[in-house]
Amino acid sequence: MPVCVCRVRVNHDHLRHNLALLQATGKALMPVVKADAYGHGLTDVAATLAAGGVDHLAVGSVAEAVRLRRSGFGACIVALLGAVDDENRAAARAWDIVPLVHDWPGLSRLAETEAKAEKPLRVAVKCDTGMSRLGFAVEDMARVAQALAACPGLRADMLMSHLAVADEPEEDAYTRAQAARFGEAARALRAYFPQLRLSLGNTACLLTFPDLAGDLARPGLGLYGVNPLHGTSRAGAGAGLKPVMEVSAPVLAVRPLPAGRTLGYGRTYTALTDRLVAVVGIGYADGYRRGPAPATRICLRGVRAPVIGRVAMQMTCVDITELAAQGLDIRPGDEAFVLGGPGHAVTAWDLAEQWGTIPYEVICLLGKGRA
Ligand SMILES: *Cc1c(COP(=O)(O)O)cnc(C)c1O
Repeated sequence: MPVCVCRVRVNHDHLRHNLALLQATGKALMPVVKADAYGHGLTDVAATLAAGGVDHLAVGSVAEAVRLRRSGFGACIVALLGAVDDENRAAARAWDIVPLVHDWPGLSRLAETEAKAEKPLRVAVKCDTGMSRLGFAVEDMARVAQALAACPGLRADMLMSHLAVADEPEEDAYTRAQAARFGEAARALRAYFPQLRLSLGNTACLLTFPDLAGDLARPGLGLYGVNPLHGTSRAGAGAGLKPVMEVSAPVLAVRPLPAGRTLGYGRTYTALTDRLVAVVGIGYADGYRRGPAPATRICLRGVRAPVIGRVAMQMTCVDITELAAQGLDIRPGDEAFVLGGPGHAVTAWDLAEQWGTIPYEVICLLGKGRA
């Protein structure tokens, strides 16, 4: 039995729809299922994607990759955080996982541990084209290629880099410059590894510049039905995506709050007139953030109602006075939707704007309620 009363549903029909929409770009995909598939559940999401024709997946840690293998995913898995220790390196070998190699110390250690292997371990080489996070400098790629070519235990299978601003149309020049540097790095590595496959684009790149995405695009957010281009001049490119995560919680109680009373911790809300309140069984322990969120809404019977007072650990209060005035008879046990659901649904972008964050964090947080 789950420990919380809230409920996270993952709509696999919508996941299939989004996959088909992204596949329609004509690019081969290596979907990103890191961080438990952005909170949607690693192994279930992987199974749906595999059934939809996906034969490459990118996870974060080697441990996630091993979990995928144990669940029966048989095709190529890349671990985007690389092999962080010898245990990871041994697991990559044992489970046929492609680790990312992004710096000289990591390359040297892998060359040592794999030196005596009978069959080369495939690696994904990461180069830094402008994110300044992980990756070899583009200028070093010729030396990286030579070093790898000199290691019989290793084989460069992929070249990767990550775009910093593909979701910001006004930053196109930066994205194009990153793609150009990626092309240079690819030439250097291909001189030694002609079979090398290239992987650059995330969802935003795939939707707007599929030509820059490389041989294997790496969409994450779009698969989960959130449009990374929301609010930009290119929002239309992702308009067909359908949200995959839906989060609800039961109404625990419906109570009058007489004028003059205060509600919840810190007495931050005072009823100016008589109000009707629904107490909903979700809180910050379930990833429903405590704030600051001046105008968060929860959807009951398809109609939005404002959250009032402080969000608590496992409870949140909603002012349903207006809903009752419209004739909606909200009762204990009714399902209150904090994300998605029927009617005028609250979206991941709505919550992100309320919480001062991005929809990626919203779905990762709320996905924890699946446990
Ligand atoms: C998370 C991630 C992606 C996916 O990006 P989206 O914006 O979710 O499509 C692609 N590549 C790397 C390296 C990532 O870390």
